[in-house]
Amino acid sequence: MNIILFGPPGAGKGTQAKKLVDFNGIPQISTGDILRANVREGTELGLAAKAYMDKGELVPDQVLIGIIKNRLKEQDCCKGFILDGYPRTVPQADVLAVILKEIGKPINVVLNLEVPDEVLVDRISKRLMCKCGASYHTVSNPPKKDNICDLCGCEVFQRSDDREEAVQNRLKVYKKQTQPLIDYYAKQGLLVTLDGTKNIDEVFEDIKAVLAKFA
Ligand code: AMP
Repeated sequence: MNIILFGPPGAGKGTQAKKLVDFNGIPQISTGDILRANVREGTELGLAAKAYMDKGELVPDQVLIGIIKNRLKEQDCCKGFILDGYPRTVPQADVLAVILKEIGKPINVVLNLEVPDEVLVDRISKRLMCKCGASYHTVSNPPKKDNICDLCGCEVFQRSDDREEAVQNRLKVYKKQTQPLIDYYAKQGLLVTLDGTKNIDEVFEDIKAVLAKFA
């Protein structure tokens, strides 16, 4: 299965991607996680990306295209992949289509998690995350031990781009640059829209029901 998890920031793409990884063993490719790892390691890519990320802007397409091209060619993608946070612009989607054609792995489905703005803002402002990629919500999904990641035992923190100023900009950027992809994939008959306001397990059940149709 080659899946795109689509939706605004805070829609639950990362959370659902991780559940899918456990469920069907195909890798999650999160461009946000890849960029954040580069920022942490202080690589050239990380240094270039950080200023965009902190403001809630998109990192330039050229940077992302290189990352995604290399990642999709890795061995663990042979049985499928879950794209989380890519594509985010029409040019990124166009390039993705070319890469996938080249490697013979068409997208099977685009799962669009729909969530209203006020819920997104609430979720993001209460989000904590871990450098291992796990994410939590201080009220609805807190770590079992205060501030400690359930998965790896590291300390959880608030993402720098989850601060109020950046969040508003991320939503604006989503609407202007990313939302047009809804039509783009709907026209290709790939889009399935799901109610992302349900709780984590309910959304996952809905996702499994969609994927069962492809089995
Ligand atoms: P995410 O973790 O998916 O919310 O991404 C965090 C930030 O990383 C975004 O706000 C962008 O600055 C950057 N980013 C992640 N994926 C992309 C992408 N496909 N295109 C451009 N920038 C991206």
